Amino acid sequence: MSDNRIRKITIVGGGTAGWMTAAACAKLLKNNFCEIELVESDAIATIGVGEATIPQMQLFNKVLDLDEDDFVKKTQATFKLGIEFVDWTRLGHSYIHPFGSFGINMEGVEFQHFWIKQLLKGKAPDIEAYSLAAVAAKQGRFMRSVNMPNSPLADIHYAFHFDAGLYAKYLREFSEQRGVKRTEGRIVEVKQNTDSGFVESVVLENGTVIEGDLFIDCSGFRGLLIEQTLKTGYEDWSDLLPCDRAIAVPCENAGDPIPYTKSIARPAGWQWRIPLQHRIGNGHVFSSRFMSEDEATNILLSNLDGEPLAEPRTIKFTTGKRKKYWNKNVVAIGLASGFIEPLESTSIHLIQSTIARLFSFFPTKDFSETEIDTFNRLSDIEMERVRDFIVLHYAATERNDTPFWDYCRNLELPEFLKRKIALYESSGRIIRQDEELFNETSWLAVFHGQGIKPRGYHPIVDTLSPEEVEYRVNSVRNVIENSAKEMPLQKDFIDKYCRAEKLM
Ligand SMILES: Cc1cc2nc3c(=O)[nH]c(=O)nc-3n(C[C@H](O)[C@H](O)[C@H](O)COP(=O)(O)OP(=O)(O)OC[C@H]3O[C@@H](n4cnc5c(N)ncnc54)[C@H](O)[C@@H]3O)c2cc1C
Repeated sequence: MSDNRIRKITIVGGGTAGWMTAAACAKLLKNNFCEIELVESDAIATIGVGEATIPQMQLFNKVLDLDEDDFVKKTQATFKLGIEFVDWTRLGHSYIHPFGSFGINMEGVEFQHFWIKQLLKGKAPDIEAYSLAAVAAKQGRFMRSVNMPNSPLADIHYAFHFDAGLYAKYLREFSEQRGVKRTEGRIVEVKQNTDSGFVESVVLENGTVIEGDLFIDCSGFRGLLIEQTLKTGYEDWSDLLPCDRAIAVPCENAGDPIPYTKSIARPAGWQWRIPLQHRIGNGHVFSSRFMSEDEATNILLSNLDGEPLAEPRTIKFTTGKRKKYWNKNVVAIGLASGFIEPLESTSIHLIQSTIARLFSFFPTKDFSETEIDTFNRLSDIEMERVRDFIVLHYAATERNDTPFWDYCRNLELPEFLKRKIALYESSGRIIRQDEELFNETSWLAVFHGQGIKPRGYHPIVDTLSPEEVEYRVNSVRNVIENSAKEMPLQKDFIDKYCRAEKLM
């Protein structure tokens, strides 16, 4: 058995995916389990965007045993309580997709059913009033959970906005301290076994040969091993997700950073605003079928909060995924494995979950096909569920003011999404299924935010008198309102615990 053990992992690429993988391997594969080497080229830049996350990121930090305040300081991070979607449903409209939950379950039934009863009677305010994260976000407030039983303050869900370059640097330091070897150099050749096609080594420009038993391809969109070498193939999703370009530019902060990401719909796509301690990250994601690069750049530059800090740059992508994430002895992680699009900040999470899945299925040199197939099937399900959630934002819109939005409104929806919408419309039910990243809160926020209306609710609600339902729903709202007032402003929280040093 021991002869079969993986003795060397070679990670190709030192962007977010490469260093997250290296850090997790260094932390989890203890007792000199195997050698870990990461190869990256200083001449090939990382993607340099990818700065908003979702709450699952905290789990990754926990696995690494990071000191959260130190992580926030070193990456110029801020806290994120959700995403505000502006102009997505119709011009002039906005809603928040918050983290955490809406209200509390009562009588064994989710809160939304009680709220829907009130909504149908015209007696309920927007669902946001029942989310601590949404209310606090709008007021610029943030704190971590405190030990207060029965209070929403005991269960605050949050994520981070951080500087991608500083994050890779931070994880590099973490990984190198734990024995990961970093080699700088451009890979110019990949050597494969002539019989099996397995990758045996990569060769650098200076002639250095780096071998490995297991190769992790974190080389970004190019997919140096998974695609250029193994020709795995790519499933193109651009019919469903037509955006294929982003113009990115950082700008100066104007005022204190807000504790949420902003996503503002534009005539052929949308713009992100990611507030960090030292700057704001901005980008305009658009479809080149419906808008030129010049026009997209102009829209971005005329909608910045502060002075631009760099020249805008264009990133091209094709939404979709590799036909296999794991092929022979190569596992693709990060952009090498596919890209949905940045709307709900899922890519860094998908890196994290692919790493977790790789650990569950950690191979021996036998590389069992059954296990590789299962790994690939689970990865497919996860990606498709995320894709469908993102598609919902585009498809469920009233916008008919541009050809892009006409296209989106008329999309042929995937079956999973059709069923999910139909169930919610008929009875307000949202059922989370296997490997599904987004929970009931997320679906509810976006269903409601994008104007999808339920016709019914769980019959248990009618076992309470109408007065009792109204009283309970109003009480939840008051508790949320009062709890938010207890929270400090994010600025004060950061000043107290995790203010980053000013960068020169
Ligand atoms: C427009 C846009 C916005 C995004 N926003 C978000 C977001 O808000 N939240 C989120 O979670 N994700 C986001 N993402 C995704 C996120 O940026 C990526 O998932 C993440 O940065 C990981 O990138 P990567 O490490 O796979 O690739 P890269 O950053 O491209 O790194 C590739 C690495 O491979 C190395 N390399 C390549 N070829 C060679 C070679 N021949 N020899 C040696 N080394 C080589 C390079 O040097 C580099 O180190 C966004 C992506 C895009 C395109």
